[in-house]
Formats: sequence, C-alpha cells, structure tokens
Amino acid sequence: MSVESLQAHSVQAAWSQYDAVDAGPTGLNAFLSVDRDGSLAAAKVIGTNGDLAGVPVAIKDNLATLTLPTTCGSRLLEGYVSPYEATAVRKLREAGAIVIGKTNMDEFAMGSSTENSAYGPTRNPVDRSRVPGGSSGGSAAAVAAGVVRLALGSETGGSVRQPAAFCGIVGVKPTYGRVSRFGLVAYASSLDHVGVFAQNVFDAALGVELIAGHDPYDATCSALPVPALRQSATVADHAQPLAGLVVGRPIEYFTEALDPRIRAHCDTSLERLRALGAEVRDVSLPHTSLAIPVYYVLAPAEASSNLARYDGVRYGQRRSADGLREMYERTRTGGFGAEVTRRILLGTYVLSAGYYDAYYRRAQTVRELITQDFERVFANGVHVLFTPTAPTPAFRIGEVSDPYDMYLSDIYTVTANLAGIPAMSQPIGLVDGLPVGGQFMAARFDEATMFKAAAALEYAMAAEGGA
Ligand code: GLN
Repeated sequence: MSVESLQAHSVQAAWSQYDAVDAGPTGLNAFLSVDRDGSLAAAKVIGTNGDLAGVPVAIKDNLATLTLPTTCGSRLLEGYVSPYEATAVRKLREAGAIVIGKTNMDEFAMGSSTENSAYGPTRNPVDRSRVPGGSSGGSAAAVAAGVVRLALGSETGGSVRQPAAFCGIVGVKPTYGRVSRFGLVAYASSLDHVGVFAQNVFDAALGVELIAGHDPYDATCSALPVPALRQSATVADHAQPLAGLVVGRPIEYFTEALDPRIRAHCDTSLERLRALGAEVRDVSLPHTSLAIPVYYVLAPAEASSNLARYDGVRYGQRRSADGLREMYERTRTGGFGAEVTRRILLGTYVLSAGYYDAYYRRAQTVRELITQDFERVFANGVHVLFTPTAPTPAFRIGEVSDPYDMYLSDIYTVTANLAGIPAMSQPIGLVDGLPVGGQFMAARFDEATMFKAAAALEYAMAAEGGA
C-alpha cells in the first residue's frame, strides 16, 4: 500500500458514488450534511502537496467544522455551526484532504447502531436491512460503500471499532492522549477519543499518523513524538514478519456470549498469526466482566455533566417559554431523544449525594483494576492482544430494542476505552455474507506494534485470496 492508492480516489468520484448509494428510501443515509460545490471547487485548486492532496474525507457530525453544521445527530443542535474547527479535521485539511460532508451518528454518540440519530438510521452497505453499527455508523458506511476511503469517527466505548467490524472495514481507536480532542463534542471526557476509518490497515495508520500529536488546545493530549505509523503498517519481511512477537489471547473474550462462527474466524486468525512467526499465548484479564457495568456508571455520569450545557442559551435550538426555567425544561425535553435522556437521568442519579460512593467511586476503583489487568499482561512480555471486536455480526434495523442488549454489543471494546490503550478492528472473515471484525489491542502509545501485527494479518489473508 502507499499514499497513491488513497490519492487515486477523487472528489468527483466520491460524488458519483454518493449519488449512487446515499439518497432515497433504501439509500444509506450516511451523511447529515454535504458540501458538494465547495469540495468540487477545492479539488480544482488543491495542487499536489500533502499526503492527502485532493483526497475526499468524511467527518463524524460531532467533530467541529467551520462551514458545515455540527449536530451530533441531535434535534437540539439542528443547524448549529461551530465558530472553530476540530484539530483532527484541521490536520487532515492541512495534509490536503477535502471534507465532503458530515456523517450520521447515534445522538451525542450514545448507541451501537446509529438508530438513535434524530435524522433516521444509517443502513449497512453490505446488507441494507441491517445496522452499520454505531455510534459512528455514517462514517463506517461511507467508507465501506466507497464514497470516501478515509473518515473520522469518535469512540467512547467502541464507536469506531464496532461499526468497522459490522461494515467490513478497518477502524482504529488510538491511545488516549495520542490525538487531540479539541473540537470533538464531549460525551464522557475520560473515555472520548477521535478515531479513523479506512479500507485497509496502511490507510488507517496513515490517517492516525496525520491527526496525532501535541495540541496546546487539548490539555489531555500527549507531547510524545508520533512514530512513522505508515512504516509500521508496511509488511517488509514477507516470510516471518511477526517473528518474536507475542500475541495474547484473553480467555475472558472467548466465552459463550460469542457467536461460535465468529470464534472460528478468530481461531483461524490466530493460526495465521502463528504462521507469520508470532507466538500465541492464553492470558487472563480477570476483571473483564465488570467492564460494561463500570462503563455504564462512568459514561452516563460524565455525560450528565457534559450535556448540562445544552440549555437553549448558548447552543442550537431554543424552545420558547414564559420563564427561564421553563425554557430550559422545554428545550431539553424536546431536544434530546430517549437514549440521551436515559443516560442523563442515570448519570445524575449515580452522582447524587447519597449514591456517589456506592456507584461512581466504586466504578472508578474497578476501572483502575481493569487498567491494571492490561498493564500486567503487557509487562509480562505480551506485545499485542487479539480478540473478536463484537460478539455478533450486524443485526437488523429494529432488531435490538432492549437498551441493555444494545450495550452488550460493546463488551469487547469498552475495556480499551477504560484503560486508554490503542485498539483497532479489521475484517477477518464473513458469517452468512456479513463481515466479522478481529481486534488488536496494544500497550499505551504502542500503536506501531499494533499496526505491524494488523498489517501482517491483512497481508496473509490477501495472499490466501481473501478467506
Ligand atoms: N455504545 C456505547 C455507548 O452507547 C459506546 C458509544 C461510543 O463509543 N461513543 O455509549
């Protein structure tokens, strides 16, 4: 792979593909707003400088852009245009990329199917009766359908990796602190990340490399130098590229909750990793089963505080009322959908005086134990972990109605957000024609080793002719 393959896709080609797939009752509905004229004009004057010179990209609608609205898939922010631009978006543009539109998402990034968007669900390009995953489902669908080859998403508990798995593409959540969150609308700040979607490992690594690095506008963003990740994602030794690499297989990720057909694909991938020279070792991450309960205390708690700002005064829509208090109530009641309301109520509850110690403080303690599980494994000679990305393939639109069942879609992904470690999903096979994702995780700031393993596995699969 090389940057040229990304550059081969033009803005014009993006629009023909968009016209073919996005609109209409059975269209993907991957985009919430687009800039056709502006992007075509930009393509004419862009020149050839930069790794992404002239490359069309799509941006999740919770990342601030200067000309297109940033709605977060919410009625409350309908038509809202930010006065500033997200750092990750600016960096892509500075590399020559052209933003063609903003993508659909679960409202405020809360969900795993993109069905919680106020603007209707996105459809999975592989099977349009199914969800693309979420919350970054629009970006995943846009890349999987070939409208763009690179898109930005965000992750709080799996919102890049799970849709990447459902749509059969590559999705990366870098280390917490690797990429600036300036201009990313906050959901749960201690868990939020900016992530990248691409059609292959090299493009994803390049995307992360380009948006990573210190940013004075985000105090949580690390000053560590960014390694040449595109190099890590280039397979040089074709015989034993993973010689010396130790791959951990966490036993807690291979339980009955896992679709046996997905397990079989994971086993095949582990065999391939062995054939590439890696040593595969069973490891234990004993606190894994607590990850979902911990996440659903911490994420709503942080969300209830972050979303307090949407009171009709400074952002987006305002409902008229007689007094200030009534205006707040009407704006918030009318503006937020059911899932966002549920999270705000839950978060307010777990933070309230009598329950803080019982829920929030305990969840913080268990989060630390989950983080230590990973640290212990990586300190004991394991370089990367390999697991399934999601327990099932893409489900049908409307099929999962119980919120708790929806939460379980992230059982294998939330752990990396809680621990802040880099993680990614890539296609490892099909079940009944539906894509299956395999996940690599690595130690904090070791994206390089993660991409090396992922690129080798991708190479091996291509050499076998897909599988
Ligand atoms: N599905 C999870 C949630 O609803 C994760 C979403 C995300 O990563 N933004 O919170």
